[in-house]
Formats: sequence, C-alpha cells, structure tokens
Amino acid sequence: MMQTLLLAVVLQEVVPPSIQQISPARIQANVDHLAQDELYGRYWLSPFAQEAAEWIQLQFEEAGIKPGLPDDAWFQKLPVENASPNVVGMIPGTDPKAGIIAIGAHYDHLPPRRRGEDKIYNGADDNASGTSGLIEIGRALVPLKSRLKASVLLIAFTGEEAGLMGSRHFVQEMNVDPKRFIGLFNLDMISRGEEDVIFIEGAAKAPQLIAALRRANRTNLQLKIDQHPDWLSRSDQWPFLEKGIPALLFSVEDHEDYHQVTDHADKIIASLASRVAQMVAMAVLDLAEEKTLGSSPPSEPGASESGVTDEAKSPSERDLKETDP
Ligand SMILES: [Zn+2]
Repeated sequence: MMQTLLLAVVLQEVVPPSIQQISPARIQANVDHLAQDELYGRYWLSPFAQEAAEWIQLQFEEAGIKPGLPDDAWFQKLPVENASPNVVGMIPGTDPKAGIIAIGAHYDHLPPRRRGEDKIYNGADDNASGTSGLIEIGRALVPLKSRLKASVLLIAFTGEEAGLMGSRHFVQEMNVDPKRFIGLFNLDMISRGEEDVIFIEGAAKAPQLIAALRRANRTNLQLKIDQHPDWLSRSDQWPFLEKGIPALLFSVEDHEDYHQVTDHADKIIASLASRVAQMVAMAVLDLAEEKTLGSSPPSEPGASESGVTDEAKSPSERDLKETDP
C-alpha cells in the first residue's frame, strides 16, 4: 500500500510553485478590476475597453511576458472605428521549431443598457474570469520559460460579443502556417455553475491537447467533454478551428446571470477559475516541453547562449515577417 502510494507520487510531475500560486485570491482581484462599474462593461467600441486593454497589457508586462506582435507591439488594431485592440503577449520558447501554443480569452463584454436601476453589464464571469485566468497562466509560465521549447502566445481578444471580431481578425492577419500551432486553449466563462465542473468542447479534434489536460487535472475537476458541440462556433476558438488548428473551449453552462447586468464579481467561484487555470497552465507546460512538432534535431550542447536566444526570440514574429509581401 505504502509503496504503491509512493510510486504514484513519484510518477506524477510536481506542480511548480508558480502554477500553484494561481490562487482564487489572484483570480478574484483581476475580476474585481475588470468587472468594476467604472469600466462600464468593456464594450469593444468604447474607451473603457481600451482602458481594459491597457490594464491587461500592464499585467502582462509586469509578469515578464514579452510583446507578441511584430515590432514589439502589444496591441493589434482592428479596421473598425473606435475598436479596442487585441492584446497579444508571448513567452518565447527555446526551440523555434517546436511550434506555438496559444491561450486566449475575450475581455470585451456589452454596452450599458438605457433603462433600469443597474445599467452596467459587468461581465464578471463573461469574461473577466477567462481574462483573469489568461493573465495568471502567463504569470505562472514566465518563471518556467527555460523549460518551454514551444512558444506560448497569450491573446486577450476584443469584439467577441460583436461576432468574434478580434479572433477573426487575428487569424486573418497572422501569416503563420497553421501547422505551426500545437493548439489553442480558449477560456470563456470559467467561474460559475457547479464548483467542480468545467465543460470542454473541441476534444474530438484535439486528442493531444485533451490527453495533456487529463494528465494536468491535479485537483480532480470534473471534465465534461464535448457535450455542447454547438458552442464551438460561439466563441473565439472558431476561427482557429476553421483554419484547422486544434482548439479547446473551456466554459460553464449558461446561468441566470448570463448576459444580464447581474453578472457581478461577487458571484464568481474564484476557486473553480483558479483550478481551471492551473490545469491549463500544467497542460501547456507539458505540451511545450515535449517536442511536439516537426523533427528538430536536439539542441547542441555547445550552442552559444546568444545564438539560442536570437533564434528563439520570437518565432511567430519571424514568421509573420518572413511571409510579408
Ligand atoms: Zn463570452
């Protein structure tokens, strides 16, 4: 009995401290900020969404995440008047041939309504919760970057509520070969419903991602897999799936405050969001450590540090530039 137990413990990789530190308190603090009344629901064509975008960029930067776009840019503008941008960060991997793992969450929500005592759609679960998870996953992975062969792309999407505007634009503009993407993990509403349950859609076409997730599920969340195929076209994973990129959506079922002015920060289950974020961070670490794409030769032991860094600096950036006309 004792021996079996010990063996099981040894076989499971330790959860790194930085991932353990994705706490309910941190999740809650981010949600409290993004869902505050002063941001008026973060409607994508408002200055409040712009303000939210700048705040997300600041969190990325303070965490040690690098800009994810060409010319060290954080903001990807959309060709729509007054539109707030996608915010894109990156943790460059050590092996440029190892591909890219993307994590996404939309940060926009809805404009205030005209009538009623409470006019503001705070969008705490939808989707301050996913955005908060995205930020904390990035923060947790930065101290582990020497272990990441693949690059990790962190995307806070705008305009999801207006019809996946940000994610469509991102996929349209990127000149990266879709084959270089190991996959996308999209977080959209991860903090309501039952405290142990998260729904995951897209598994059928992402066996590698779902296998990594199962290994990464250290807090025994109930994973409800592929039960709502209709959700696949309803959030930002859709444009990626259309390009043939494996993508998973993490979400809870619609609840009484879904798209209501009552989607308030004090109603979220921060522990659920933190457990989902920990699981995704572990899965991304697992996938990024493996040589999952191509047949890149083992890195030379004598390779100079600067040489490696140069090569690894920003694979997506290089590719974006490579294919520029
Ligand atoms: Zn949403």
